[in-house]
Amino acid sequence: MNSPSDHIPSAPAPDSLSASASSLRAVISYISARDERVNPLSVINRAEPDEPVFVLRARDMVATAAIEWWLWCARNRGVPDDKLARAELQRRAADLWIEKRLPTQSGQETGKAVVRSARQERDEPDSVLNHAHPDEPVFVIVASDAVAVEVVEFWAFMAQRHGAPDSKVQAAMEVAKAMARWSHKRVVGTGSRPQRAAPGAAAPEVQRPVHRTHMRLVCLECGHSEKVGEPPFDAELLASVREATDGACPACGAAPSVDPVSGLSRRVLTTEMVAPDSAP
Ligand SMILES: [Zn+2]
Repeated sequence: MNSPSDHIPSAPAPDSLSASASSLRAVISYISARDERVNPLSVINRAEPDEPVFVLRARDMVATAAIEWWLWCARNRGVPDDKLARAELQRRAADLWIEKRLPTQSGQETGKAVVRSARQERDEPDSVLNHAHPDEPVFVIVASDAVAVEVVEFWAFMAQRHGAPDSKVQAAMEVAKAMARWSHKRVVGTGSRPQRAAPGAAAPEVQRPVHRTHMRLVCLECGHSEKVGEPPFDAELLASVREATDGACPACGAAPSVDPVSGLSRRVLTTEMVAPDSAP
């Protein structure tokens, strides 16, 4: 751990996080930041030097949800069970990590590249990976992972909803775009890593989906649709939406009815989520 080849800036003394980490290790065999740094077969060490990467660390409050989303996307793409089980261990370990913070913008981060390559994460002393506690569970997402873009965009979406600074959210979206331009995609755990294409090939400009953040009220009878809300969705707004969907359509007047057989009420109004600019 103190070898000259080690890029860890300064190994911290045993602390409360280390103590808590040993009890966590006793329950879950997870991959820590130190494991990612030193194991030659780790995700970061097997990535191509210039491959864009996104390192989720357990301290990040949004990390657990992002790993959960990775699991969901990966399962749908046919990632093998052993890889899913591996990720689930990381999710649980991250969930149980005791230090939690919102991603914040610290002064020292301004002016640095927002998109980090595997080489930068490995070598730069203040990279996310090298800045993490050595025992901290981490989840490294590399651009060649077929679900990387979806997961980083989800992270950005969740971070924004939790009130992270806009610069952090925008930085993550830049990472997602760089990952989308990375043309060598593979489903984790299936087959070997593909060879790089010939250098010099033009990077295609990529359009990324816009998240559906705005809610509209829709009438099932006449199709009438009107805006009811946009983020942040506070309790008051959600209560008024619930109340509205129990009522009659403001356009056609169709009202909820009760099924005489089942006794269940049938609404005429429902809600749908749309992208911010898809409807006035
Ligand atoms: Zn109607």
